[in-house]
Amino acid sequence: MADEVLVQLEHISQVYRSGKRRFYAVQDVNITIKDGEFVCLLGPSGSGKSTLLRIVTGLQAPTEGRVLYRGEPLRGVNPHATIVFQTFALFPWLTVQENVEIALKARGVPRNLRTPRALDLLDRVGLDGFETAYPRELSGGMRQKVGFARAMAVEPELLCLDEPFSALDVLSAETLRGELLELWTGGKIPTRAILMVSHNIEEAVFMADRLIIMDKNPGRVVAEIPVDLPHPRQRKSPHFIALVDKVYGILAGQTQPEHIELGSAPGKPGTTRWLPDVTVSDIVGLVEYLDESPNQTHDIYQLAEELAVDSDKLLRVIEAVELLGFATVASGDITLTPLGEAFSEASILARKEIFASRLRRLPLFRWLLEMLRRAEGHRLPVDVVQTALALELPPEEAEKQLRTMVSWGRYGEIIAYDDEEGIITLEPAGETAAEMIGA
Ligand code: ADP
Ligand code: MG
Repeated sequence: MADEVLVQLEHISQVYRSGKRRFYAVQDVNITIKDGEFVCLLGPSGSGKSTLLRIVTGLQAPTEGRVLYRGEPLRGVNPHATIVFQTFALFPWLTVQENVEIALKARGVPRNLRTPRALDLLDRVGLDGFETAYPRELSGGMRQKVGFARAMAVEPELLCLDEPFSALDVLSAETLRGELLELWTGGKIPTRAILMVSHNIEEAVFMADRLIIMDKNPGRVVAEIPVDLPHPRQRKSPHFIALVDKVYGILAGQTQPEHIELGSAPGKPGTTRWLPDVTVSDIVGLVEYLDESPNQTHDIYQLAEELAVDSDKLLRVIEAVELLGFATVASGDITLTPLGEAFSEASILARKEIFASRLRRLPLFRWLLEMLRRAEGHRLPVDVVQTALALELPPEEAEKQLRTMVSWGRYGEIIAYDDEEGIITLEPAGETAAEMIGA
Protein backbone atom coordinates (compact mmCIF):
# COMPACT_ATOMS: atom_id res chain seq x y z
CA MET A 1 0.00 0.00 0.00
CA ALA A 2 3.00 2.26 0.39
CA ASP A 3 2.99 5.27 -1.92
CA GLU A 4 -0.78 5.29 -2.02
CA VAL A 5 -2.07 8.78 -1.35
CA LEU A 6 -3.94 9.07 1.95
CA VAL A 7 -4.70 12.75 2.22
CA GLN A 8 -4.89 15.48 -0.34
CA LEU A 9 -5.51 19.12 0.50
CA GLU A 10 -6.43 21.09 -2.60
CA HIS A 11 -6.33 24.88 -2.58
CA ILE A 12 -7.35 25.08 1.05
CA SER A 13 -8.06 28.52 2.48
CA GLN A 14 -9.50 29.46 5.81
CA VAL A 15 -10.89 32.89 6.54
CA TYR A 16 -11.53 33.95 10.13
CA ARG A 17 -13.12 37.01 11.50
CA SER A 18 -11.37 39.05 14.10
CA GLY A 19 -13.15 42.14 15.27
CA LYS A 20 -14.27 43.89 12.12
CA ARG A 21 -11.63 42.37 9.95
CA ARG A 22 -11.70 39.15 7.98
CA PHE A 23 -8.34 37.60 7.41
CA TYR A 24 -6.82 34.57 5.77
CA ALA A 25 -5.48 32.30 8.51
CA VAL A 26 -4.51 29.86 5.77
CA GLN A 27 -4.24 30.64 2.09
CA ASP A 28 -4.17 28.28 -0.89
CA VAL A 29 -2.50 25.33 0.78
CA ASN A 30 -1.84 22.17 -1.22
CA ILE A 31 -0.53 19.14 0.62
CA THR A 32 -0.33 15.44 -0.18
CA ILE A 33 0.35 12.78 2.43
CA LYS A 34 1.14 9.27 1.36
CA ASP A 35 0.69 5.96 3.08
CA GLY A 36 3.76 5.28 5.21
CA GLU A 37 4.81 8.90 5.66
CA PHE A 38 5.55 10.89 8.79
CA VAL A 39 4.97 14.50 7.80
CA CYS A 40 5.58 17.54 9.99
CA LEU A 41 3.92 20.91 9.58
CA LEU A 42 6.50 23.32 10.89
CA GLY A 43 6.05 27.04 11.32
CA PRO A 44 5.80 29.94 13.75
CA SER A 45 2.83 30.38 16.01
CA GLY A 46 -0.11 31.80 14.06
CA SER A 47 0.84 30.26 10.71
CA GLY A 48 -2.35 28.19 10.62
CA LYS A 49 -0.95 24.79 11.57
CA SER A 50 -3.70 23.88 14.04
CA THR A 51 -6.28 25.15 11.60
CA LEU A 52 -4.95 22.80 8.92
CA LEU A 53 -4.94 19.89 11.32
CA ARG A 54 -8.59 20.50 12.19
CA ILE A 55 -9.37 20.69 8.48
CA VAL A 56 -7.53 17.43 7.73
CA THR A 57 -9.44 15.61 10.46
CA GLY A 58 -12.72 17.13 9.35
CA LEU A 59 -13.34 18.91 12.64
CA GLN A 60 -13.64 22.06 10.59
CA ALA A 61 -14.68 22.69 6.97
CA PRO A 62 -12.38 25.08 5.08
CA THR A 63 -13.66 28.32 3.59
CA GLU A 64 -12.26 27.30 0.21
CA GLY A 65 -10.78 24.18 -1.32
CA ARG A 66 -11.35 20.52 -0.65
CA VAL A 67 -9.94 17.61 1.33
CA LEU A 68 -9.68 14.17 -0.22
CA TYR A 69 -9.14 11.08 1.90
CA ARG A 70 -8.08 8.02 -0.12
CA GLY A 71 -9.36 9.87 -3.16
CA GLU A 72 -12.81 10.58 -1.75
CA PRO A 73 -13.98 14.05 -0.73
CA LEU A 74 -14.13 14.29 3.05
CA ARG A 75 -17.55 15.00 4.55
CA GLY A 76 -17.73 15.69 8.26
CA VAL A 77 -15.30 14.23 10.76
CA ASN A 78 -12.80 11.79 9.28
CA PRO A 79 -13.43 8.44 11.00
CA HIS A 80 -9.94 7.18 10.05
CA ALA A 81 -8.09 10.03 11.76
CA THR A 82 -7.44 10.85 15.40
CA ILE A 83 -6.08 14.10 16.70
CA VAL A 84 -3.91 14.44 19.79
CA PHE A 85 -3.67 17.90 21.29
CA GLN A 86 -0.94 19.65 23.24
CA THR A 87 -2.55 18.78 26.56
CA PHE A 88 -4.81 15.87 27.13
CA ALA A 89 -8.21 16.10 28.59
CA LEU A 90 -8.20 12.91 30.63
CA PHE A 91 -11.22 12.13 32.78
CA PRO A 92 -9.95 12.76 36.31
CA TRP A 93 -12.46 10.38 37.91
CA LEU A 94 -11.37 7.44 35.74
CA THR A 95 -8.22 5.38 36.18
CA VAL A 96 -5.54 5.28 33.51
CA GLN A 97 -6.93 2.01 32.19
CA GLU A 98 -10.53 3.26 32.20
CA ASN A 99 -9.46 6.38 30.33
CA VAL A 100 -8.19 4.17 27.51
CA GLU A 101 -11.12 1.76 27.65
CA ILE A 102 -13.61 4.57 27.25
CA ALA A 103 -12.06 5.45 23.88
CA LEU A 104 -12.39 1.82 22.81
CA LYS A 105 -16.00 1.81 23.93
CA ALA A 106 -16.70 4.94 21.92
CA ARG A 107 -15.31 3.12 18.90
CA GLY A 108 -17.68 0.20 19.45
CA VAL A 109 -15.08 -2.33 20.61
CA PRO A 110 -16.94 -5.15 22.43
CA ARG A 111 -16.65 -5.18 26.22
CA ASN A 112 -14.62 -8.40 26.48
CA LEU A 113 -11.95 -7.04 24.12
CA ARG A 114 -11.58 -3.63 25.73
CA THR A 115 -9.59 -4.61 28.81
CA PRO A 116 -6.93 -6.70 27.06
CA ARG A 117 -6.54 -4.05 24.34
CA ALA A 118 -6.21 -1.24 26.89
CA LEU A 119 -3.63 -3.17 28.92
CA ASP A 120 -1.64 -3.97 25.81
CA LEU A 121 -1.59 -0.31 24.72
CA LEU A 122 -0.56 0.94 28.14
CA ASP A 123 2.22 -1.59 28.12
CA ARG A 124 3.39 -0.38 24.71
CA VAL A 125 3.63 3.26 25.78
CA GLY A 126 5.51 2.22 28.91
CA LEU A 127 2.75 2.66 31.49
CA ASP A 128 2.84 -0.91 32.70
CA GLY A 129 2.08 -0.86 36.43
CA PHE A 130 0.09 2.39 36.35
CA GLU A 131 -3.20 0.94 35.14
CA THR A 132 -5.09 1.69 38.33
CA ALA A 133 -3.58 5.12 38.97
CA TYR A 134 -5.64 8.28 38.56
CA PRO A 135 -4.48 11.09 36.27
CA ARG A 136 -3.66 13.37 39.22
CA GLU A 137 -1.10 10.83 40.43
CA LEU A 138 0.84 11.02 37.16
CA SER A 139 3.49 13.41 35.90
CA GLY A 140 2.76 15.51 32.81
CA GLY A 141 4.78 13.14 30.65
CA MET A 142 2.89 10.12 31.89
CA ARG A 143 -0.46 11.79 31.36
CA GLN A 144 0.61 12.55 27.81
CA LYS A 145 1.41 8.85 27.38
CA VAL A 146 -2.11 7.96 28.47
CA GLY A 147 -3.29 10.38 25.82
CA PHE A 148 -1.15 8.65 23.20
CA ALA A 149 -2.45 5.26 24.31
CA ARG A 150 -5.99 6.55 24.04
CA ALA A 151 -5.35 7.94 20.55
CA MET A 152 -3.76 4.66 19.45
CA ALA A 153 -6.54 2.62 21.02
CA VAL A 154 -8.79 3.52 18.14
CA GLU A 155 -6.05 2.41 15.71
CA PRO A 156 -6.31 5.47 13.50
CA GLU A 157 -5.02 5.18 9.96
CA LEU A 158 -3.93 8.77 10.23
CA LEU A 159 -2.55 10.00 13.53
CA CYS A 160 -2.58 13.79 13.84
CA LEU A 161 -0.52 15.37 16.59
CA ASP A 162 -0.74 19.05 17.50
CA GLU A 163 2.47 20.04 19.31
CA PRO A 164 2.20 16.94 21.49
CA PHE A 165 5.47 17.50 23.33
CA SER A 166 5.40 21.24 23.87
CA ALA A 167 3.72 21.17 27.27
CA LEU A 168 6.25 18.70 28.67
CA ASP A 169 9.55 19.26 30.40
CA VAL A 170 12.65 18.73 28.25
CA LEU A 171 13.41 15.21 29.47
CA SER A 172 9.89 13.81 29.29
CA ALA A 173 9.48 15.31 25.85
CA GLU A 174 12.65 13.67 24.61
CA THR A 175 11.70 10.30 26.08
CA LEU A 176 8.24 10.40 24.60
CA ARG A 177 9.55 11.41 21.18
CA GLY A 178 11.82 8.39 21.19
CA GLU A 179 9.02 6.11 22.30
CA LEU A 180 6.64 7.34 19.62
CA LEU A 181 9.33 6.89 16.96
CA GLU A 182 10.00 3.38 18.18
CA LEU A 183 6.32 2.45 17.91
CA TRP A 184 6.13 4.02 14.47
CA THR A 185 9.36 2.85 12.85
CA GLY A 186 9.04 -0.59 14.48
CA GLY A 187 5.60 -1.04 12.92
CA LYS A 188 4.13 -1.63 16.37
CA ILE A 189 1.04 0.44 15.66
CA PRO A 190 -1.34 0.01 12.74
CA THR A 191 -1.18 3.73 11.92
CA ARG A 192 -0.44 4.32 8.22
CA ALA A 193 0.67 7.95 8.41
CA ILE A 194 1.47 10.60 10.99
CA LEU A 195 0.87 14.30 10.55
CA MET A 196 2.51 16.27 13.33
CA VAL A 197 2.42 19.98 13.99
CA SER A 198 5.48 21.55 15.56
CA HIS A 199 7.12 24.91 16.02
CA ASN A 200 10.38 23.33 17.06
CA ILE A 201 12.83 22.91 14.19
CA GLU A 202 15.08 20.32 15.85
CA GLU A 203 12.10 18.21 16.87
CA ALA A 204 10.75 18.22 13.32
CA VAL A 205 14.08 17.23 11.77
CA PHE A 206 14.52 14.56 14.44
CA MET A 207 11.20 12.87 13.77
CA ALA A 208 9.65 13.44 10.35
CA ASP A 209 10.26 12.08 6.85
CA ARG A 210 9.19 15.33 5.27
CA LEU A 211 8.84 18.90 6.54
CA ILE A 212 6.17 21.21 5.25
CA ILE A 213 7.31 24.65 6.26
CA MET A 214 4.70 27.31 6.87
CA ASP A 215 4.89 31.03 7.47
CA LYS A 216 2.31 33.49 8.71
CA ASN A 217 0.40 36.55 7.49
CA PRO A 218 -1.18 34.82 5.71
CA GLY A 219 -0.60 31.21 6.78
CA ARG A 220 0.87 29.40 3.79
CA VAL A 221 3.34 26.75 2.74
CA VAL A 222 6.72 28.25 1.89
CA ALA A 223 8.82 25.12 1.39
CA GLU A 224 8.87 21.35 1.55
CA ILE A 225 11.98 19.51 2.61
CA PRO A 226 12.49 15.75 2.64
CA VAL A 227 14.47 14.44 5.61
CA ASP A 228 16.34 11.48 4.24
CA LEU A 229 18.15 10.46 7.42
CA PRO A 230 17.86 6.97 8.92
CA HIS A 231 16.46 6.48 12.44
CA PRO A 232 17.60 6.83 15.14
CA ARG A 233 18.86 10.24 14.06
CA GLN A 234 21.98 11.82 15.46
CA ARG A 235 21.46 15.47 16.35
CA LYS A 236 25.17 16.17 16.08
CA SER A 237 25.66 14.60 12.67
CA PRO A 238 26.70 17.03 9.91
CA HIS A 239 23.72 16.08 7.77
CA PHE A 240 21.30 16.74 10.65
CA ILE A 241 22.89 20.11 11.38
CA ALA A 242 22.85 21.06 7.71
CA LEU A 243 19.11 20.41 7.56
CA VAL A 244 18.39 22.42 10.71
CA ASP A 245 20.48 25.26 9.30
CA LYS A 246 18.53 25.10 6.05
CA VAL A 247 15.19 25.39 7.85
CA TYR A 248 16.41 28.38 9.88
CA GLY A 249 17.42 29.90 6.56
CA ILE A 250 13.83 29.62 5.41
CA LEU A 251 12.12 30.66 8.64
CA ALA A 252 14.37 33.35 10.06
CA GLY A 253 13.19 36.61 8.52
CA GLN A 254 15.28 37.88 5.65
CA THR A 255 15.66 41.55 6.46
CA GLN A 256 13.24 43.50 4.25
CA PRO A 257 13.34 47.06 2.96
CA GLU A 258 12.23 49.37 5.75
CA HIS A 259 8.78 50.26 4.43
CA ILE A 260 7.90 46.56 4.26
CA GLU A 261 9.61 45.69 7.54
CA LEU A 262 7.68 48.35 9.43
CA GLY A 263 4.22 47.58 8.07
CA SER A 264 1.32 49.85 8.99
CA ALA A 265 -0.58 50.91 12.09
CA PRO A 266 -3.89 49.50 13.35
CA GLY A 267 -6.87 50.82 11.44
CA LYS A 268 -4.70 51.84 8.48
CA PRO A 269 -4.66 50.05 5.12
CA GLY A 270 -1.99 47.41 4.78
CA THR A 271 -0.72 44.83 7.21
CA THR A 272 -0.21 45.90 10.80
CA ARG A 273 3.25 45.09 12.05
CA TRP A 274 2.68 43.40 15.38
CA LEU A 275 5.46 42.98 17.90
CA PRO A 276 7.00 39.57 18.50
CA ASP A 277 6.20 38.30 21.96
CA VAL A 278 9.58 38.73 23.68
CA THR A 279 10.91 40.74 26.60
CA VAL A 280 13.44 43.55 26.51
CA SER A 281 15.90 41.33 28.38
CA ASP A 282 15.62 38.72 25.62
CA ILE A 283 16.50 41.41 23.10
CA VAL A 284 19.35 42.86 25.15
CA GLY A 285 20.63 39.35 25.84
CA LEU A 286 20.88 38.43 22.20
CA VAL A 287 22.45 41.73 21.14
CA GLU A 288 25.08 41.48 23.88
CA TYR A 289 25.80 37.89 23.02
CA LEU A 290 26.32 38.71 19.36
CA ASP A 291 28.46 41.70 20.24
CA GLU A 292 30.72 39.71 22.55
CA SER A 293 31.27 36.97 20.04
CA PRO A 294 34.43 37.21 17.94
CA ASN A 295 32.52 36.42 14.75
CA GLN A 296 30.83 39.06 12.66
CA THR A 297 28.20 36.68 11.45
CA HIS A 298 26.50 33.86 13.29
CA ASP A 299 24.78 30.70 12.14
CA ILE A 300 21.34 30.90 13.67
CA TYR A 301 21.10 27.16 14.35
CA GLN A 302 24.20 27.40 16.53
CA LEU A 303 22.72 30.23 18.54
CA ALA A 304 19.80 28.00 19.52
CA GLU A 305 22.24 25.60 21.08
CA GLU A 306 24.56 28.19 22.60
CA LEU A 307 21.73 30.14 24.20
CA ALA A 308 19.77 26.99 25.09
CA VAL A 309 16.47 28.27 23.73
CA ASP A 310 14.08 26.48 21.41
CA SER A 311 13.84 27.50 17.79
CA ASP A 312 10.47 29.16 18.17
CA LYS A 313 11.64 31.51 20.91
CA LEU A 314 14.90 32.23 19.11
CA LEU A 315 13.09 33.14 15.90
CA ARG A 316 10.89 35.57 17.83
CA VAL A 317 13.85 37.27 19.49
CA ILE A 318 15.58 37.51 16.13
CA GLU A 319 12.46 39.05 14.62
CA ALA A 320 12.49 41.69 17.37
CA VAL A 321 16.17 42.47 16.97
CA GLU A 322 15.68 42.75 13.22
CA LEU A 323 12.61 44.94 13.57
CA LEU A 324 14.55 47.32 15.81
CA GLY A 325 17.39 47.45 13.29
CA PHE A 326 19.97 45.92 15.65
CA ALA A 327 20.79 43.05 13.31
CA THR A 328 20.19 41.85 9.78
CA VAL A 329 19.30 38.34 8.77
CA ALA A 330 20.05 36.54 5.53
CA SER A 331 20.06 32.83 4.63
CA GLY A 332 20.17 31.49 8.16
CA ASP A 333 22.86 33.92 9.32
CA ILE A 334 22.52 36.90 11.62
CA THR A 335 24.83 39.93 11.68
CA LEU A 336 24.83 42.77 14.17
CA THR A 337 24.40 46.23 12.60
CA PRO A 338 26.55 49.19 13.71
CA LEU A 339 23.48 50.39 15.61
CA GLY A 340 23.22 47.03 17.34
CA GLU A 341 26.87 47.30 18.36
CA ALA A 342 26.36 50.84 19.61
CA PHE A 343 23.36 49.69 21.62
CA SER A 344 25.27 46.83 23.16
CA GLU A 345 28.16 49.03 24.19
CA ALA A 346 26.13 52.02 25.39
CA SER A 347 25.42 53.00 29.01
CA ILE A 348 22.03 52.09 30.42
CA LEU A 349 20.65 55.56 29.79
CA ALA A 350 21.98 55.76 26.27
CA ARG A 351 20.54 52.31 25.60
CA LYS A 352 17.13 53.53 26.63
CA GLU A 353 17.43 56.49 24.29
CA ILE A 354 18.43 54.31 21.37
CA PHE A 355 15.62 51.93 22.17
CA ALA A 356 13.10 54.79 22.35
CA SER A 357 14.23 56.20 19.04
CA ARG A 358 13.77 52.80 17.43
CA LEU A 359 10.29 52.39 18.92
CA ARG A 360 9.24 55.77 17.55
CA ARG A 361 9.78 54.44 14.03
CA LEU A 362 7.26 51.68 14.51
CA PRO A 363 3.77 52.50 13.25
CA LEU A 364 2.26 50.60 16.18
CA PHE A 365 4.03 52.87 18.71
CA ARG A 366 3.23 55.97 16.70
CA TRP A 367 -0.39 54.96 16.86
CA LEU A 368 -0.23 54.50 20.63
CA LEU A 369 1.66 57.75 21.25
CA GLU A 370 -0.77 59.68 19.08
CA MET A 371 -3.73 58.21 20.94
CA LEU A 372 -2.16 59.18 24.28
CA ARG A 373 -1.35 62.67 23.07
CA ARG A 374 -5.00 63.26 22.22
CA ALA A 375 -6.26 61.80 25.50
CA GLU A 376 -7.12 64.03 28.42
CA GLY A 377 -4.10 64.42 30.69
CA HIS A 378 -2.18 62.21 28.25
CA ARG A 379 -3.53 59.19 30.11
CA LEU A 380 -5.57 56.23 28.98
CA PRO A 381 -6.98 53.19 30.76
CA VAL A 382 -5.25 50.12 29.44
CA ASP A 383 -8.64 48.57 28.54
CA VAL A 384 -9.26 51.31 26.02
CA VAL A 385 -6.06 50.48 24.18
CA GLN A 386 -6.80 46.78 24.40
CA THR A 387 -10.28 47.29 22.98
CA ALA A 388 -8.79 49.22 20.09
CA LEU A 389 -6.32 46.39 19.42
CA ALA A 390 -9.09 43.81 19.72
CA LEU A 391 -10.71 45.30 16.62
CA GLU A 392 -7.93 43.62 14.69
CA LEU A 393 -6.69 40.79 16.83
CA PRO A 394 -8.25 37.88 18.67
CA PRO A 395 -8.60 38.77 22.39
CA GLU A 396 -5.62 36.75 23.69
CA GLU A 397 -3.42 38.15 20.92
CA ALA A 398 -4.53 41.71 21.72
CA GLU A 399 -3.63 41.14 25.35
CA LYS A 400 -0.20 39.78 24.44
CA GLN A 401 0.48 42.69 22.06
CA LEU A 402 -0.44 45.16 24.72
CA ARG A 403 1.77 43.49 27.29
CA THR A 404 4.71 43.62 24.88
CA MET A 405 4.04 47.24 23.90
CA VAL A 406 3.84 48.33 27.52
CA SER A 407 7.05 46.57 28.51
CA TRP A 408 9.03 47.82 25.51
CA GLY A 409 7.58 51.33 25.83
CA ARG A 410 8.36 51.45 29.55
CA TYR A 411 11.94 50.42 28.95
CA GLY A 412 12.33 53.17 26.34
CA GLU A 413 10.64 55.55 28.80
CA ILE A 414 8.22 56.88 26.22
CA ILE A 415 5.27 55.66 28.25
CA ALA A 416 4.66 54.86 31.89
CA TYR A 417 2.27 52.29 33.20
CA ASP A 418 0.54 52.14 36.53
CA ASP A 419 -0.10 48.46 37.22
CA GLU A 420 -2.56 49.01 40.01
CA GLU A 421 -4.82 51.45 38.25
CA GLY A 422 -4.23 50.05 34.78
CA ILE A 423 -3.38 53.47 33.34
CA ILE A 424 -0.92 54.19 30.53
CA THR A 425 0.65 57.66 30.57
CA LEU A 426 2.73 59.51 28.03
CA GLU A 427 6.24 60.22 29.30
CA PRO A 428 8.06 63.45 28.38
CA ALA A 429 10.20 61.60 25.81
CA GLY A 430 7.06 60.14 24.31
CA GLU A 431 5.36 63.52 24.29
CA THR A 432 8.06 65.10 22.17
CA ALA A 433 7.84 62.15 19.84
CA ALA A 434 4.05 62.32 19.62
CA GLU A 435 4.20 66.03 18.82
CA MET A 436 6.69 65.40 16.05
CA ILE A 437 4.52 62.63 14.62
CA GLY A 438 1.20 64.39 15.11
CA ALA A 439 2.33 67.61 13.51
P1 ADP B 1 -0.90 27.91 14.68
O1 ADP B 1 -1.44 26.58 15.11
O2 ADP B 1 0.10 27.80 13.58
O3 ADP B 1 -0.39 28.74 15.81
P2 ADP B 1 -3.69 28.63 14.23
O4 ADP B 1 -4.26 27.75 13.17
O5 ADP B 1 -4.02 28.30 15.63
O6 ADP B 1 -2.11 28.72 14.01
O7 ADP B 1 -4.13 30.12 13.97
C1 ADP B 1 -3.87 30.85 12.78
C2 ADP B 1 -4.45 32.23 12.93
O8 ADP B 1 -5.85 32.18 12.99
C3 ADP B 1 -4.01 32.95 14.19
O9 ADP B 1 -3.88 34.32 13.91
C4 ADP B 1 -5.16 32.70 15.15
O10 ADP B 1 -5.25 33.73 16.11
C5 ADP B 1 -6.34 32.72 14.21
N1 ADP B 1 -7.45 31.84 14.63
C6 ADP B 1 -7.38 30.52 14.92
N2 ADP B 1 -8.59 30.02 15.19
C7 ADP B 1 -9.46 31.06 15.10
C8 ADP B 1 -10.90 31.20 15.25
N3 ADP B 1 -11.67 30.15 15.56
N4 ADP B 1 -11.43 32.44 15.06
C9 ADP B 1 -10.67 33.49 14.71
N5 ADP B 1 -9.33 33.43 14.53
C10 ADP B 1 -8.73 32.24 14.72
MG1 MG C 1 -1.43 25.67 16.97
